[in-house]
Amino acid sequence: MTMINNDLCTGCKICQKYCTVDAILYLNEEKKCYIDQERCTECYVCLRQKVCPQGAIEPIELDNFYKQFQHVISDPVENHGVTGVTGRGTEEVKTNDVSGRIKKGEVGIAIDMGRPGMGVYLRDAEKVAMAIAAVGAELAPQEHTPLAALMTDLKIGKLEEACHNYHLLSVIVEAKCENENLKQVLKALQKVEKEIDTVFSLGLIVRVDEKGQTKVLDCLKELGISEPHRGKVNVGLGKPLSLA
Ligand code: SF4
Ligand code: SF4
Repeated sequence: MTMINNDLCTGCKICQKYCTVDAILYLNEEKKCYIDQERCTECYVCLRQKVCPQGAIEPIELDNFYKQFQHVISDPVENHGVTGVTGRGTEEVKTNDVSGRIKKGEVGIAIDMGRPGMGVYLRDAEKVAMAIAAVGAELAPQEHTPLAALMTDLKIGKLEEACHNYHLLSVIVEAKCENENLKQVLKALQKVEKEIDTVFSLGLIVRVDEKGQTKVLDCLKELGISEPHRGKVNVGLGKPLSLA
């Protein structure tokens, strides 16, 4: 847990500029700053960058599993214990030529929640995961993505109740579906986006046909999902592991 030592704080407010999610608040009565623990993501930016000239920002041992999870996902230099990957702990599903997770006839889905600058409560990540699982998306297991470690049932995307109010800098809800089911999944996302208190960007991982074509763009157009769509192409020359 990140705390401000009240005895050392002079109320200069320098630290506020560095907090990624506006979790450092100023108390007028005391003329000092404090950290809103509900909002802090334990990203440790304020600690790592030593932003306080008084050394008043202090780390307190993270003695609870969800706090540790929050820190590991929110701090880009931490390594996630299960996946062994730094950052948000998930290997790039987008590099499918290496990971081979998305087979022909499938679409990979990476819903990047909370960026930029808003953060995401796990209760909102659950809403999104449950919404797409309910229409047939297959959520990624915990070997691929840390969020799955908090799921009580991977089939429906439900998270443990106790984690709902933890705030992360960002988190990826990762899944895949059959090509034919993509429209239903996107419709579910269009519905649930109105029910959450954060933002997300959607990554779709597709394998183009021999002519370099995909029907996914037609599907986006049909649903009125606005352009521009930004793309990244992996040609698989380095490690074409996925031929299936
Ligand atoms: S930078 Fe340090 S002294 Fe200044 S308000 Fe923040 S915690 Fe207090
Ligand atoms: S740990 Fe991160 S979220 Fe928490 S107060 Fe510091 S900068 Fe803000």
